[in-house]
Amino acid sequence: MTFVRRSVLTICFTILLACVAPRIGPGPRVAPRIVIAQTSSPAPARANQQNAYSLSPDKLAKAIAISRIRNIMDIVGGLWGLAVLWLLLASRAAARLEAWAQSITARRWIQGMIFFAAFILITAVASLPLDWFSQHVERSYDISVQGWGSWLGDQGKSLGLSLLIGAPVLLLFNWIVRRWPRRYWFGIWMATLPLLVLSIFAQPLLEPIFNKFEPLSKNHAGLVTELEKVVARTGTNIPPDRMFLMMASVKTNGLNAYVSGLGATKRIVVWDTTAGRVPDDEVLFIFGHESGHYVLHHIPKLIAGMAFALFFIYWACAGFAAWLARRFGSRWQLGGSENATPLASRAGFVVLLFAISGAGFVLEPINNTFSRHFEHQADVYGQEAIHGLVPDPQKTAVSAFNHLGEAWLEDPNPSPFIEFWEFNHPSVQTRAIFAQNYDPWANGGHGEFFDK
Ligand SMILES: [Zn+2]
Repeated sequence: MTFVRRSVLTICFTILLACVAPRIGPGPRVAPRIVIAQTSSPAPARANQQNAYSLSPDKLAKAIAISRIRNIMDIVGGLWGLAVLWLLLASRAAARLEAWAQSITARRWIQGMIFFAAFILITAVASLPLDWFSQHVERSYDISVQGWGSWLGDQGKSLGLSLLIGAPVLLLFNWIVRRWPRRYWFGIWMATLPLLVLSIFAQPLLEPIFNKFEPLSKNHAGLVTELEKVVARTGTNIPPDRMFLMMASVKTNGLNAYVSGLGATKRIVVWDTTAGRVPDDEVLFIFGHESGHYVLHHIPKLIAGMAFALFFIYWACAGFAAWLARRFGSRWQLGGSENATPLASRAGFVVLLFAISGAGFVLEPINNTFSRHFEHQADVYGQEAIHGLVPDPQKTAVSAFNHLGEAWLEDPNPSPFIEFWEFNHPSVQTRAIFAQNYDPWANGGHGEFFDK
């Protein structure tokens, strides 16, 4: 269900900022935490609604404690990423790295590959302690069950992918700055658009690097039969051979199911921690929610929205980066006498990355606000999708949210500020309360997305 984070943040920002915090693969923190957030609306006021999502006292204590750590780590992680870039510039390490790459070869593109590969490596190593700590916390709360060897292996794979994909992308962007020093932000914007689409298309092709998949029908034939009923009702074109079981249980106790890919790579994935462990009816609901993202064209809408926003973000970042370069360029030894703009040098390009990362950090609440809207729509769709297929859609949805919230230890009453800033889903509580009260079929009515 972490559809938006998966599709847009994980992927697009992985490609764009890549580079800045290299994590293409499902790293521990960006990994699908299905059920996360909450909406900007405050906790429910009416007593009879307050317990749509509740936890036992000991789980509640744990959920509050781990949520606090997660929330702090989210913000610290963002700030730390920015700090690392600033330190690279201010310590002149970026400038020295550029000089070193130039001393190795005269070929400019090889210099660039060396510089950006080293840059990705450095930022990856710098974020390792935070990633390690997050993983340590998830393990101590029994959410992650992944051993450290396997975890390090995933980090290594993620780094390898970042080098393979991120370095050439950064080189391309840097080349665009060199080639069109005045209007480069427009060129980078143009180059970003196909990369966005490609990254969503390619995601299912990269996932098997991190996790094992098998056909869902292999061990869950009954569930597949049920899912096909939802497919028929929703009109999504997902045949059984596009339904997969992901072996998540070797790494986590969390629950999840999601849709990924585009066109020929489109598929539904259910974690093995979910299929068979929560009632099939609830898997149908989660599947219905995921189908909603597709049927309601959330991917094209998000791509269009990102494209629109990035046009202005890149423009503004170009201005900000130019100002930073004027202000600090000589102190940071960005060079630039041969270049029309200091930003065209390798080290200068890091200034631009700093500006874009800063924008990403500051704009995250806006991104999350859109995300929560789409997630809510998908919740409505999911509940309507299972109407007539399960005895009581309201009960099924509420129960699913309770299972999800409990599995991930989601805080039933997070602070409104944290919700607004960090949550890409409405809170479990908000979602459960909505589900409990959503009954458009009462008195012969029908839902928003289905005629009956
Ligand atoms: Zn979702």
